[in-house]
Amino acid sequence: MQVKVVSNILEANEAHAGVNRQRFKNNRVFVLNLMSSPGSGKTSILERTIDHIKGLLRIGVIEGDIYTAKDAERIGEKGVPVVQINTKGACHLDANMIACALAELPLDQLDLLVIENIGNLVCPAEFDLGEDIKAMVLSVTEGNDKPLKYPLMFREAKALLVNKMDLISFTDFDLDLMEKDIRGINPDGKIFLMSAKTGEGFEAWCRWLYHQVQAKKEKSSVTASG
Ligand code: MG
Ligand code: ZN
Repeated sequence: MQVKVVSNILEANEAHAGVNRQRFKNNRVFVLNLMSSPGSGKTSILERTIDHIKGLLRIGVIEGDIYTAKDAERIGEKGVPVVQINTKGACHLDANMIACALAELPLDQLDLLVIENIGNLVCPAEFDLGEDIKAMVLSVTEGNDKPLKYPLMFREAKALLVNKMDLISFTDFDLDLMEKDIRGINPDGKIFLMSAKTGEGFEAWCRWLYHQVQAKKEKSSVTASG
């Protein structure tokens, strides 16, 4: 019985995610679902990413938090449209929450929508939001054990942002071991070594993200004209 209930929740989520995906396609907006544990630096990475590419792409943000609008306020200061979702206890975003938030965003005027998920390495990875790609942040202060302990999220992530590289010498984080563990789970994921504090690695990450956004636009214009 328990299993049945869980599968119904995920099936209902799939239906909402499909509707979202079609809306994103119709509006030619690329959607990134950004996940990580709490405190890994998602919001700081997002702030710097916006600084890097807001001259090239029109960006909007959905901020997921259990309580408070602190992160949305930080993002709002960057002058981009932002909507806060407070899940009031729920530990992940689902596709229906995103559908509600979309009513508050000028979707037809965006190239890139970033969804900052709830800080949690487990269930956010199970809920499709209709996004184009998932990316995740792992900070070096979290240690090497995370990929093998939480393989689903690391498998689903098309990009892994290894943050807080400025602190690596104060930790025993092993980059070679991290890469070996990731490759065992997710052979094709892109890995970016970066620091939201110093800006290291943002050039490469933002270039890659920009190309992902452009590739979707090109694909959708081919489909539209053909
Ligand atoms: Mg945050
Ligand atoms: Zn959850």
